[in-house]
Amino acid sequence: MKIRILFERRPTRRIMVGKVPVGDGSPVTVQTMTVTKTADYEQTLQQIYAVAAAGADIVRCTCNRQEAAEGLARIVPRSPVPIVADIHHNYRMALAALDAGVHCLRLNPGNIRKPAHIKAVASECRDRGVPIRIGVNGGSLDPDLYDPELGVTPEAMVESAQRELRYFEEVDFDLVKISVKASNVPLMIEAYRQLSEVTDHPLHLGVTEAGPPPAGTIKATAGMATLLAEGIGDTIRYSLTADPVEEVKAGRHLLEAMGLRERRNVDLIACPSCGRAEIDVFSVAEEAMKALSDRKIPLQVAVMGCVVNGPGEARDADLGIAAGNRRGHLFVKGVNVAVVPESDMVSSLVEWAEFMNKHGAQAALRRAKNTREAARKAAMEDRQRNLENVGVNANNTEAVIATIRRR
Ligand code: SF4
Repeated sequence: MKIRILFERRPTRRIMVGKVPVGDGSPVTVQTMTVTKTADYEQTLQQIYAVAAAGADIVRCTCNRQEAAEGLARIVPRSPVPIVADIHHNYRMALAALDAGVHCLRLNPGNIRKPAHIKAVASECRDRGVPIRIGVNGGSLDPDLYDPELGVTPEAMVESAQRELRYFEEVDFDLVKISVKASNVPLMIEAYRQLSEVTDHPLHLGVTEAGPPPAGTIKATAGMATLLAEGIGDTIRYSLTADPVEEVKAGRHLLEAMGLRERRNVDLIACPSCGRAEIDVFSVAEEAMKALSDRKIPLQVAVMGCVVNGPGEARDADLGIAAGNRRGHLFVKGVNVAVVPESDMVSSLVEWAEFMNKHGAQAALRRAKNTREAARKAAMEDRQRNLENVGVNANNTEAVIATIRRR
């Protein structure tokens, strides 16, 4: 029996960003931000469609000038996902974005500081029923809160968010989500932990300016995964120096890996390879990933280097292939179903994955009714052959240990 562990999520209120719920146990959502000029609405829409196809639930566009607000007026009605307007410095841009029909605003308390301006925007949002993300950023913290000795502290970031909330309360506005992002992972983790103790507004997670992948992806994952495992976080964004589609893919992968979203794409697992491998596992796995990644097939698929241990080690995968004697041994739920030439390993994997996605595992096993026995025997033969050629100890460790002991 498979064990399914779910992270208990901290209770938060629910807000609606357009038609997408955020908070109160709704699925953790993936966000990204366009990198086009918002005024160039055709290009921006193209990017929005690309990220939505990759799995973005909500998209943010900058609204830094009047032309951008006008672009939003054309983008919002044609967008497949809710649009958040990113506002810095100029509160009038927030009002213009609301006129354009955006589904949410992001305000940075560090650079819109006049209480009258903040309250004017919050009042307009209240009247329109549009939520605001209070987006505190360690790099642009309100100067009043910056500690000259300690620098940016988690306490100061939380206070910045709470100060903004108090302004909102004065005008009776509470459709709020909050972020306290920093590029320093421990700082960001601590700020979110403290924030989650003092508020039940939904939280938007992110490590800001994480940088290019893979280091940026790892940094952002370290911060967000830690918090998600503690039940903190209702929506996430990877801030990578990369195509926004990559940000969305990373976000989906993280949530799917943590069991926080239903699987949408293939989960490719592969053995690390060893002295027993009969193929170049790295390149076959990479080829399989390329062939399967955009197909929206929610299956776990395994690429294993040998038929000796591969099928057993990947018995929980939905579908897998293991190499042996220049051929590929396909298995469904641990049952051998077919043998294919080594050159067809990836194409066969794709073909079976498509079949299983359409018809299910039982149908795949029925499809192999007449080939299963021959496939099982072929796998046994190739397994035996590998054991005879490579020996039981494929990595020769006993001989190495004997050498070490002789010294
Ligand atoms: S024993 Fe086989 S399946 Fe396991 S790591 Fe080595 S090649 Fe891969």
